[in-house]
Amino acid sequence: MPAIATMKSLAFMNKWVSSLLLVPSKVVTEKLGCPADFGFGELVWPTPGDEIPFWKNKFPSRDASPEAPAEIEKDSNLMHIIHITAEMAPIAKVGGLGDVVTGLARACLSRGHTVDIMLPFYECIQKQEISDLALITTYNSYHDGNWVATNAYHGVVSSIPVIFIEPSNQFFKGKNVYGGSYNELEAYLFFSRACLEWMQVTGVQPDIIHVHEWQIGALPLLYWDMYQSLSLKKPRIVLTIHNMEHYGECRQEQLSKCGLDGSIYASVEKAIDDRTIGHNPERLSLLKGGIVYSNAVVTVSPTYLKETLCSGWLASVLITHRDKYFGILNGIDTVIWNPATDAFLPAKFHAQKPEGKKICKYYIQKGLGLKSEGTVPLVVCITRLVAQKGLHLITHAIKRAEELGGQMILLGNSPVHWVQKDFEDLANLHNKGTSTRILLMYSEELSHMLYAAADIVLVPSIYEPCGLAQMIGMRYGAVPVVRKTGGLADTVFDVDDPSNHEKANGFVFEGIDEGSLNWALDRAFRHFIDKPEEWNRIVQKVMENDNSWNNAAGKYMEIYNSIRVG
Ligand code: ADP
Repeated sequence: MPAIATMKSLAFMNKWVSSLLLVPSKVVTEKLGCPADFGFGELVWPTPGDEIPFWKNKFPSRDASPEAPAEIEKDSNLMHIIHITAEMAPIAKVGGLGDVVTGLARACLSRGHTVDIMLPFYECIQKQEISDLALITTYNSYHDGNWVATNAYHGVVSSIPVIFIEPSNQFFKGKNVYGGSYNELEAYLFFSRACLEWMQVTGVQPDIIHVHEWQIGALPLLYWDMYQSLSLKKPRIVLTIHNMEHYGECRQEQLSKCGLDGSIYASVEKAIDDRTIGHNPERLSLLKGGIVYSNAVVTVSPTYLKETLCSGWLASVLITHRDKYFGILNGIDTVIWNPATDAFLPAKFHAQKPEGKKICKYYIQKGLGLKSEGTVPLVVCITRLVAQKGLHLITHAIKRAEELGGQMILLGNSPVHWVQKDFEDLANLHNKGTSTRILLMYSEELSHMLYAAADIVLVPSIYEPCGLAQMIGMRYGAVPVVRKTGGLADTVFDVDDPSNHEKANGFVFEGIDEGSLNWALDRAFRHFIDKPEEWNRIVQKVMENDNSWNNAAGKYMEIYNSIRVG
């Protein structure tokens, strides 16, 4: 039997595995009693020596139709919403921002609204995921004293209409979404204006322009102080802040490059970064300007809303604008993240037929050269490796999982060279054994497989505005172990906390020290090993949790409706 999981064998395996969903669960359970014997001799399991790593195989294309599930009612008061963003999953995703934009847009489409996304046409964009790509407009947009020839393309991604903005200068060129060899701040200032300019030249006037993060923070300023006196009258602006750590530091003269007079915004009421008052030079913050100038401001969980009103330098501007500031918990796209249909999984499963999850775990263990043990808990952590995510706690968890006789897989990537190097050293130390894998890369495909294989999904963030990993993990039957902060506190409730019995779905710790993490991780391990039936009940419960976008989309709709005109 060849070691490589070929296309043919994968297709065969998928066919076999999908049939599992039709087999009475008792039969399957018996077959899967011993993980080494799934009763299926033909299945080719991956190995670490495979020429093509198993997550790089070709997978059937994903069905991401926005068709509303039968129970989702269409809204009566329909509107046109345009999202303007630096990221969109899966074609230009770096973190949760991309997932959120795609998920919210699809949820609003399902409710009957007209939705478009405007995105820079990054050179690195995954063009194979775009259908019907066509040039629709050629126009000029202003930057730093010049009018830059610009193309707008139209395409469809995950069933969402997308308008791609491509300037003829060097902006957005490079191998990655961020970190190209151009001035990022100026590129997003250009993009913000180019989106409004496109609306101006085409006459498109949505009800809502929904901007995301600091990158698009200048757009509300441009809209109210420039384009409203041109032809754009109808749109109202919503800003969603996904992470307040990034606030778009900007000098007056940089802001002036998009055609505004930067000096006008250098006041406490407008866009000055309060901490730089009296410095030479003082700095502006595009995020603060966006907060002041938007009709409504949303952040991504109720607890993060409270946290940001109490701490951080932006608290004062948020308090001033408290009446238009809302906390709406993100959802996850339950079509894209669906273990019952996920094209990347070697076996499909869902809450009522969870057996395929064991195959996913075994498949990952085989493919990565971990000991193939069903009775040992597998911890998975999938994250950007940045300070916010609790790097010392992630490092400690690797050690602790090993000490407790469990397994751990980290899939992560760092934009910071020394952090990446530290984790490379850690990988060299741990990856030789059969219980730990530290995989320093970005892989959407592997992330799906790992969530499906995981018994425990670990999110030990120091702060976390919302966090998607714990919600995705739960959807795939992984029990969350999280630090109690931001959206993690809104979505995970400790099984040992009697006041939370109804909602109990994971293991929570509060401190930022290793002992606090041990307290939660050790309890999770003990539950898994000593109380398998109770564990299975938690697994079923987390898979049945409804974290879909429809609920959150309804709350966004209320905000859109409260500010729209006409
Ligand atoms: P953040 O937006 O701060 O990165 P979130 O938890 O909101 O954190 O979202 C992270 C998203 O990025 C999740 O969909 C997660 O699966 C994904 N992700 C993070 N790192 C990787 C990686 N190395 N490979 C694949 N997906 C990743």
